[in-house]
Amino acid sequence: MKLAVYPGSFDPPTNGHIDIITRASQLFDRVIVAITDNPNKKPFFNIEERKRMLIASLKNIRSVEVDSFTGLLINYLGKKKARIIIRGLRAVSDFEYEFQLALMNRKLSKNIETVFLMPDEKYTFLSSSMVKEVALLGGGIKDFVPSIVERNIKQKIKNGQ
Ligand code: ADP
Repeated sequence: MKLAVYPGSFDPPTNGHIDIITRASQLFDRVIVAITDNPNKKPFFNIEERKRMLIASLKNIRSVEVDSFTGLLINYLGKKKARIIIRGLRAVSDFEYEFQLALMNRKLSKNIETVFLMPDEKYTFLSSSMVKEVALLGGGIKDFVPSIVERNIKQKIKNGQ
């Protein structure tokens, strides 16, 4: 069985993430979307909120599960007996960082492979931080995120975060 792990912050999940997960689910038997729980970053949404939004947005894809992890990604992969990492590439600007990350993970564990997928071009300008910024400034984000994410962001902003 081909298992792949798609790690990321997903703070919040965007249509670009969903596009990548959909593509990955067509290539692999099982895809684990693994939310990075980084205590050093102050997130907009906590892990439980991000998990709930991802599960709701991915309910039509049966081969996908949502999980979270702390610490090194390669340790998490070992625990799951996975050796494939999925990452998304939007533009050349992503390349430098993703290249470093992929080679570092390979150095740390030599049987790990990183597979890069490109989203539909309409999502290449999308990032979680851009979505948050637009929403905080009062702009519409309906075209950029699943409807549950749009609702939750609006709610959070209304409640003063
Ligand atoms: P991280 O903090 O790990 O970069 P993100 O949630 O920002 O977490 O991104 C996770 C992965 O998804 C990264 O590989 C990133 O390049 C990719 N990604 C983010 N936004 C998009 C998008 N709009 N289209 C395709 N890939 C994306």
